[in-house]
Amino acid sequence: MNHDSNQSTDREHPDDLVARIRSVRAGEATTVDRLEGMLSRIDTVDPALNAFHEVLGEDARRHAESIDARLAAGDDPGPLAGAIVAVKDNLCTTEGRTTCSSKMLEHYRSPFEATAVERLRNAGATIVGKTNLDEFAMGSSSENCAWGPVRNPHGVDRVPGGSSGGSAAAVAADCADVALGSDTGGSIRQPAAFCGCVGFKPTYGRISRYGLVAFGSSLDQIGPIGRSVRDASLLYEVMAGVDPHDATTSELPVESPLSEGTIDLRGLRVGIPREHVTDENHPGVTERFAETLDTLRSAGVTIVDVDLPLTHHGISTYYVIAPAEASSNLSRYDGIRYGHRAEALPGEGLEELYARTRSEGFGPEVRRRIMLGTYVLSAGYYDAYYTRALKVRRLIKQEFDGVFSQCDVLLGPTTPTPAFRLGADLDPVSMYLNDVYTVNANIAGIPAISIPGGFVEDEGDALPVGLHLQAPAFAESLLLRTASAVEATHART
Ligand code: GLN
Repeated sequence: MNHDSNQSTDREHPDDLVARIRSVRAGEATTVDRLEGMLSRIDTVDPALNAFHEVLGEDARRHAESIDARLAAGDDPGPLAGAIVAVKDNLCTTEGRTTCSSKMLEHYRSPFEATAVERLRNAGATIVGKTNLDEFAMGSSSENCAWGPVRNPHGVDRVPGGSSGGSAAAVAADCADVALGSDTGGSIRQPAAFCGCVGFKPTYGRISRYGLVAFGSSLDQIGPIGRSVRDASLLYEVMAGVDPHDATTSELPVESPLSEGTIDLRGLRVGIPREHVTDENHPGVTERFAETLDTLRSAGVTIVDVDLPLTHHGISTYYVIAPAEASSNLSRYDGIRYGHRAEALPGEGLEELYARTRSEGFGPEVRRRIMLGTYVLSAGYYDAYYTRALKVRRLIKQEFDGVFSQCDVLLGPTTPTPAFRLGADLDPVSMYLNDVYTVNANIAGIPAISIPGGFVEDEGDALPVGLHLQAPAFAESLLLRTASAVEATHART
């Protein structure tokens, strides 16, 4: 089916990254001015939000000056010249520290830069700072942080989501044009939904994980958080592609989605998983979603009801596989090879020193995951839990293959609820259920995006919610072009 149309792709909001950086190229603004604007905004709003761990003021100024100097000399510093970008603090940067919001890595300085960050810099982007997150990216609220929680710019007693809560809050509060996050089970898309941003997780293997501190290596993927699908696409194009430092990166060519033209929504088959539209969703989420479907129907979309019966097995599958991989990845932090080391006590053996080091360095959620992971990998339980989870993973992948023969893309709410209050005191399992609609994209490795889906009323607050679109593996172009067309049916604020 050919969904191309001749519509112009130049539909653009003045707040889009493309418009912002064009002003720098046109000489109406400088990178330095734009950076100074962001830095003073961070000064004003970040004491309340705590979105940043570290602001890279001097390094960023030097970088911004060099971009302006190159532009003045008639050079082309790259497609992101003038862009101000924030980076989640589990991505290695040579400037500043990389702490993963853990006491374990409080003083860690990386000797190398993550490929994704390096590609942004090489494309002319200026990195303004490192953003707060749930420790080692484990969480859905950005409250599991060594140096205090992040707050949501749409209501400072609300969480911004997690684990990339600092990145989403930074973009929502206009402290950066765009930000990088990482997504193992929903950590880009859920905070984007809670903060009213666009958050995009590409196919597993599209963007190099080199320099991303590993959590669940078979699930982790880096991606952008921005104000529009265009912003996210632009960053994706710069970061994606094969990297010799990450053997799981794909050699498939990276398309240039938005230069391929807007997709024609007429006749596009959009699958709505019945399991994602349930009474358990917040009533506001249900209402906004129903309105979106009406709009899409009038735009000529063919709505197809589909079944994803394994939806609710995703969380339990994830909470075997992700902790298993985490327990292995985090074994390197023993205070000898890496990280914080406890003060040795007289007469103490190495085992005791390791144990105290790890108990001091890791917070409660990380310790819980290490225990869970060690348990499911232990002799006697390995087959009952780990092997079984891998079998369910295969079934989940097959389930997606099946529905993608009935529809082009899937659409549902990103989360069952809008942002909840800080300290809502959710038990761990209720917290884990935040990711019920997002986690299966990681399990299957497929690309998925959250775009703003309007606001809902919750106890007197107006809070953003997200629309979640998923597509087959490596169909980023279809996904982003569809997301852009759906985004256009919603008025931007
Ligand atoms: N919320 C999920 C977890 O706690 C997912 C986190 C992520 O995607 N990094 O593991």
